[in-house]
Amino acid sequence: MGEAMTNQCQARVWTSGGFHSHQCQKPAKVKRDDMFYCRIHDPIEKAKKQKVRDQKWDAEWKAKQASWERSAIEQVFCHGTSTEDIQRLIDGNRPLRTILSEGFTLQRRK
Ligand SMILES: [Zn+2]
Repeated sequence: MGEAMTNQCQARVWTSGGFHSHQCQKPAKVKRDDMFYCRIHDPIEKAKKQKVRDQKWDAEWKAKQASWERSAIEQVFCHGTSTEDIQRLIDGNRPLRTILSEGFTLQRRK
């Protein structure tokens, strides 16, 4: 530690076509496992960003799935099922099959 970071980033950069790669031209800012990287190619930073992306994707996917399930439920029970009932049915991470069968039971009781 304490050494001057005058090294060049050692990451390989692929050209836009993806056929060739060359070494990154940026000066290194960090050292990881004896390899030097610029800020962009720092594997720890990249992993952090990837995690944020994954989490965002996950949240978006869950929201999408919830809305699909909701509209599937609404299509089956479009009349006679209150919003509260639908909300209660889709609460928790239960499989759609369970939700639908419970919904039918609910409908039959009316
Ligand atoms: Zn780089």
